[in-house]
Amino acid sequence: MNHTNHSRLRFNFGFLLEAPLGTNRINEISYPTIQVGNDVTLTPLQGKFTATRTSEGVYVNGRFQTAIHTDCVRCLEEALVPITLQLDELFYYPPETAPDNEDAYTFEGETGFIDLSPLVREISLLETPMQPLCRPDCQGLCIVCGQNLNKADCGCTNDEFDPRLAKLRSLLK
Ligand SMILES: [Zn+2]
Ligand SMILES: [Zn+2]
Repeated sequence: MNHTNHSRLRFNFGFLLEAPLGTNRINEISYPTIQVGNDVTLTPLQGKFTATRTSEGVYVNGRFQTAIHTDCVRCLEEALVPITLQLDELFYYPPETAPDNEDAYTFEGETGFIDLSPLVREISLLETPMQPLCRPDCQGLCIVCGQNLNKADCGCTNDEFDPRLAKLRSLLK
């Protein structure tokens, strides 16, 4: 099954293959929400990129603003974390001029199409913080009862779980 054809980040740059070196085109994108790959959903995805014909391939350069769906490390609820994607990549011409590099981005076979999905997915994952939060001041979960403290206060006193207070208590005994 060919998933490539379902990508919404697929662009036809066939005309650039025949154009003089340096020819470029600016493309604007705006998606309310978009899935890239099986594991990345972006809401929204907006921005501009320039595709420029070079001697080796089509150079894609641009910047997208987005927010990635992930899980908050404190409260474990879904978090929508804003990230900026900087695109800076050469898509090598099909197929004979592609370098001996399996990781290089290329045109789709002999066609004039470029699919930005794998690139956008890769950059999105790189830009996602290691400790994503649903919001900067997320209160997390109560360590006694598990209540999401963003939604309600459970009233638990968790002094005994505070290692500093536990130490103090043991000193006072
Ligand atoms: Zn949270
Ligand atoms: Zn509690």
